[in-house]
Amino acid sequence: MRKYVIMGVQGSGKGTQSQLLAADLDIVHISVGDIFRWNVQNHTKVGALVRRTMAAGELVGDDLVESVVRTRLTEHDWNFGFIIDGFPRNRRQAEFFLESYDIDAIIVLDLPDSEIRRRVLNRRVCADCGINYNLIDSSPKVVGQCDSCGTQLATREDDTEEALAVRLRTYHEKTNPVLDLFRRKEYVVTVDARPPADEVQQDIREQLGLPPYKPDGK
Ligand code: AMP
Repeated sequence: MRKYVIMGVQGSGKGTQSQLLAADLDIVHISVGDIFRWNVQNHTKVGALVRRTMAAGELVGDDLVESVVRTRLTEHDWNFGFIIDGFPRNRRQAEFFLESYDIDAIIVLDLPDSEIRRRVLNRRVCADCGINYNLIDSSPKVVGQCDSCGTQLATREDDTEEALAVRLRTYHEKTNPVLDLFRRKEYVVTVDARPPADEVQQDIREQLGLPPYKPDGK
């Protein structure tokens, strides 16, 4: 059983790296942001509560976040473990998490703010299957269309200059202190997120002592 947390500012590749790791290790990828986006798209009660907060790039209240995480983790579909992305984001969430679950490692994707802006403002996402594209280095084959299902690609509502500025500030103010807390417990592996996704994945695996990444799956 492996339990990981992946952290990093918006656009640092948390979703991509989590998916690569999850597919290979047979662990479940849990993205709190994806759970909220699903709720917004499907007009649920939770969606109505979080929509404006998310669009503004602010953090959703801790009680709601913790209940979403707890509910998700009580679905015991993670026999081999999980990788959780986008949580915890502040000290209270971190304390709740550490009290409730034994974590093997926190993976931190490190990326300078200038590179984040470039990536986030060029990000497009498939509303149907959730695949992320980047107009800089992972454009879809047909402009504006998902390679996998053909759905029209969209820009995330919070991938704007204004919301990004809020999210970066929140990350530095609230999430960085969480890293200090984890670092004291020696859980943290920090990875340079600037290289191409395959190399970042390889670095993560080396640092976690996992078998090497094989992009072609062989
Ligand atoms: P993400 O996809 O991880 O960038 O999350 C998108 C948005 O969902 C964030 O900007 C927040 O509004 C909300 N969100 C996701 N995870 C959390 C969390 N752990 N605490 C508070 N808000 C969150």
